[in-house]
Amino acid sequence: MKFDVLTLFPKMFDDVLSESILGRAKEKGIIEYNAINIRDFANNKHNRVDDYPYGGGRGMVMQAPPIYDAYKSITKDLNYKPHVIYMSPKGSVLSQKKAIELSKMEHIVILCGHYEGIDQRVLDKIVDEEISIGDYVLTGGELPAMVLIDTVSRMIDGVLSNEESFTDESHFNGLLEYPQYTRPPEFEGEKVPDVLLSGNHALIKKWREEKSIEITKKNRPDMLK
Ligand code: SAM
Repeated sequence: MKFDVLTLFPKMFDDVLSESILGRAKEKGIIEYNAINIRDFANNKHNRVDDYPYGGGRGMVMQAPPIYDAYKSITKDLNYKPHVIYMSPKGSVLSQKKAIELSKMEHIVILCGHYEGIDQRVLDKIVDEEISIGDYVLTGGELPAMVLIDTVSRMIDGVLSNEESFTDESHFNGLLEYPQYTRPPEFEGEKVPDVLLSGNHALIKKWREEKSIEITKKNRPDMLK
């Protein structure tokens, strides 16, 4: 799976995406990502890529031409159109279901906005869907893009090891995950629940299912409707 990210801040991606599970997936060649600096496609001597909004109002708007040229630098040698996602608080909210759907794709281009957003004309021309990471507004699309890359990547075959399987994690089957414990068996007077030390796998499974339902009811009753 290949991710190309169109951004004004390409350096933000390196540290986050080269660590831990994603770093290993990149080394194994399962995922590949490139961050493309939209500013490299500015066509003025000050490298400006934003301008005042037509119609007036606050802030600046990212201009269409540099974004379109950056996008064309990705697609010029392709014989297909990659799936283009604009990270936007106006998009549909990201879910585990959406992450699984996107993990089946071969090539995703992610467009990160800044300032007040992006000239609608380039969005209309290249974007296939807008995705939000939640009902709040961030400064830019870079953190949302990293969230998207992370959650989509871990759904791709071979990215997680068997021990890190996602099928009993929160949200996969519509429930939140049961509580987890590790050594030591006693911490500040608090003991690990006996059942987890019993070695009885059927009982442990039952306990985990019950805890999953209990925590979902408590924290996210909307998920049980
Ligand atoms: N003026 C825009 C509005 O009211 O919808 C908000 C622009 S925001 C300050 C700048 C950029 O951050 C957006 O273009 C988008 O790329 C990104 N962004 C902000 N919040 C986001 C969210 N919840 N999900 C995804 N991207 C977001």
